[in-house]
Amino acid sequence: MSIVRLVYISQPTDQFQADDIEKILVSAQANNRAKFVTGMLVFNSNLFLQVLEGGPEQVNGIFSKIFKDPRHRKVQLVNYGPIKKRLFADWSMGYCGDVERIRKQLLKYSQSDSFVNPHQMSPDALLDFLASLRYGSKAPNQLPLAG
Ligand code: FAD
Repeated sequence: MSIVRLVYISQPTDQFQADDIEKILVSAQANNRAKFVTGMLVFNSNLFLQVLEGGPEQVNGIFSKIFKDPRHRKVQLVNYGPIKKRLFADWSMGYCGDVERIRKQLLKYSQSDSFVNPHQMSPDALLDFLASLRYGSKAPNQLPLAG
């Protein structure tokens, strides 16, 4: 059974509200787990960066829903291809929104500490950056859920 990894970036729209991150993560946790899709979402107020790993049909299906979501725009595929093993195997959708942590890790892998243009990073560097955020970030079951 082959597995793939998909990485994309996008920008929040005006429709995106502060509590949407929790809603998105709740949906992602349920939907991704049901399809054995794992990954991580990074958000720093002007950019989303997300990695999805799993079976090609499952990853493509989830991504096509995400792609149409009006809460973000300019969805750009950064990396897509087969992988031997998952980097986020234990997370249906991990989350990092810690701007200071993002800034510090970003400086290790890119020319500056501002998360403006991830295209300035090679796909490998972007993946290393995502993996570095994995430690110290939140697993879905640690999220403060609304209500
Ligand atoms: P629904 O019952 O349709 O909705 C689930 C929740 O999302 C509800 O709380 C609902 O109010 C809220 N919601 C849905 N659409 C909107 C909207 N347009 N405006 C405001 N609230 C809305 N989904 C995944 O399954 N996996 C992911 O990894 C994932 N990552 C995402 C990353 C980003 C950056 C964004 C913007 C969205 C992501 N989503 C993800 C959400 C996805 O786009 C769909 O909203 C979701 O898959 C719908 O799930 P559902 O049909 O089970 O739930």
